[in-house]
Amino acid sequence: MKMEKIMRSKVKDLLNAAPGRDVLAKGWVRTKRGNKQIKFIALNDGSTIHNIQVVADMEKFDEDLIRRITTGASLCVKGKLVESVGSGQAVEISAEEIEVYGDCDPVRFPLQKKDTSLEYLRTVAHMRPRTNTFGAILRIRHAMAFAIHKFFNDKGFVYLNTPIITQSDAEGAGDMFLVTTLDLAEVPFKENGKVDFSRDFFGKKTCLTVSGQLEGELGATGVGEIYTFGPTFRAENSNTPRHLAEFWMIEPEMAFYDIDDNMDLAEEFVKYLVQYALDHCMDDLRFLNDKYDEGLVDRLHSVLGISFQRLTYTEGIEILEKAIAEGHQFEFPVHWGTDLQSEHERYLVERHFGKPVILTDFPKEIKAFYMKQNEDGKTVRGMDVLFPKIGEIIGGSEREASLEKLEQRIEELKMDRKNLEWYIDTRRYGTVPHSGFGLGFERLLLFVTGMANIRDVIPFPRTPKNAEF
Ligand code: ATP
Ligand code: MN
Repeated sequence: MKMEKIMRSKVKDLLNAAPGRDVLAKGWVRTKRGNKQIKFIALNDGSTIHNIQVVADMEKFDEDLIRRITTGASLCVKGKLVESVGSGQAVEISAEEIEVYGDCDPVRFPLQKKDTSLEYLRTVAHMRPRTNTFGAILRIRHAMAFAIHKFFNDKGFVYLNTPIITQSDAEGAGDMFLVTTLDLAEVPFKENGKVDFSRDFFGKKTCLTVSGQLEGELGATGVGEIYTFGPTFRAENSNTPRHLAEFWMIEPEMAFYDIDDNMDLAEEFVKYLVQYALDHCMDDLRFLNDKYDEGLVDRLHSVLGISFQRLTYTEGIEILEKAIAEGHQFEFPVHWGTDLQSEHERYLVERHFGKPVILTDFPKEIKAFYMKQNEDGKTVRGMDVLFPKIGEIIGGSEREASLEKLEQRIEELKMDRKNLEWYIDTRRYGTVPHSGFGLGFERLLLFVTGMANIRDVIPFPRTPKNAEF
């Protein structure tokens, strides 16, 4: 069969093309229906949520070939793009030649209509990207990644790659995964009974990174504004719909930004991404809206036209305590000094203000050592951006720029500064006010796609007791 000559077109482009020309399409069969004279094949190649209809006149094709065209089979179709007579599509392909690349046994095919629950799909790695749902999510995920790079590139930020393997005792953002080549059956011990990591690959204890921030600050205090966008690992045993053991994080870090500049950037950033999704992913968003979350598109619009509510942690606590006094019940206790739980965050966002909230000035005890200390001696200049349905989507702060105060905090917390000197040096040699934040990529995607479980917005989720594929 000779199919050269014509260039292959993506289904997305064919659906927008004018009828009349010869075309070549490749993809997987979604459905086949029809009668003895004519077959209608819905073909999808992943370029769009929509299928192109292939019309096969049985007079032109061999029975055996048509029998092989089952749901899931892969095809190459040559034909003419014609105006569609049926409703539902403007154009269709009137097939002249069809080649089956790969058959798909209709009996053993794992994507039967009756079982396409999201939980089930997580167990069939090869089928997941073929579904409408995951196709939409993967395309949106890609568009958001692209928009993130575009946003920062347009602002002159430098994309900085921070290490994935790091020294273990750097931050304390979460429990870390150990990286070692030591033989677990013959672990070398020191005299004090501790593992002798000097015999390990790197000659010291190393882990997978929980954040690129500290290295990011080194970049920012040289080239001004940087962002990282890479995988992040946390061995926290939290089996929630908002936590992964491996997730992606975007961490901008900016010299000469104070906390207000930081909040302005964070707000502009997420609004830009939501706008980008609305401008470029509407077909996929509509599909997800109609299938899973009727409020999705409205919710995306709702964060755009307004200013996020900015308030201090202390003010937030007052609102929550008042809610409790008025009879509202929370599962977890809340008073000044506690870390807010997702239910508290969502109360502020969804019930009290009805819009995204940026909380600032947290008790220093619940935040990391590097946050800028306020005059009151009790709070630090952190900021959390809280979103409807999700809670915390961004965590950030103005960083402590004073060498003295930073050292004093490290001491207070009894941190081992041996492996931190490289970081402390930024405050020794030309320190500057600076700020930054971390946006969890999958948390953003939860918001943008309306999915309820973070496992469904990443291609291969890693969670406690699960590292399949
Ligand atoms: P949370 O309280 O929700 O666990 P956190 O305070 O540990 O978040 P940070 O250390 O500030 O979060 O990390 C920055 C951002 O990274 C968070 O705002 C969130 O968007 C994302 N994030 C943190 N932990 C996870 C996780 N386990 N899985 C997915 N995203 C995460
Ligand atoms: Mn956490």
